[in-house]
Amino acid sequence: MRAPVVAYVGLGANLGDAQQALHDALAALAQAPGTRVLRSSRVYRSAPVAAAGPDFFNAVAEVQTLLPAPELLEQLQSIEQAAGRERPYRNAPRTLDLDLLLYGVARIDSARLTVPHPRMRERAFVLLPLRELAPALVGDADLAAVSGQRITALPPTSSPG
Ligand code: ATP
Ligand code: CA
Ligand code: CA
Repeated sequence: MRAPVVAYVGLGANLGDAQQALHDALAALAQAPGTRVLRSSRVYRSAPVAAAGPDFFNAVAEVQTLLPAPELLEQLQSIEQAAGRERPYRNAPRTLDLDLLLYGVARIDSARLTVPHPRMRERAFVLLPLRELAPALVGDADLAAVSGQRITALPPTSSPG
């Protein structure tokens, strides 16, 4: 039997009801085979980086999974598809984007999957929510490098009643 691996998934959306898309994606992720969502960060609002369209809503989820990394990526892509993801051009606005940021300590470099995600250290919208969950993984120098990017954490939503 495979040992469970802790992985980090970056979530982003900037079309339609983007916050709802993140919420739905977390629920879908929790339904993926052999996969549990351990924790998720606050939701952040960020200016598009090298991308068009309205502000993004972003978060990071910490998951525990029995799936091998390529199969976890397939699950992420099917959740994107179910949310209506289209890829008309590079960095196009999107209903939902799910990136596999980290998969345990694995380093993967295949045609379809590179882990750690090669651009994660350039992105405040990844580093800030990741640091909430895993402060040891994001240093002060990492944050300083992205300090020019506009991003704010939304207040936590209180559940009604
Ligand atoms: P970026 O990768 O810069 O965040 P993007 O998320 O807009 O850009 P996509 O169009 O969602 O890019 O994905 C393009 C391809 O990236 C996917 O088809 C997938 O095979 C590949 N890919 C490679 N490594 C990863 C990873 N760690 N997580 C998600 N997709 C990856
Ligand atoms: Ca992405
Ligand atoms: Ca992606």
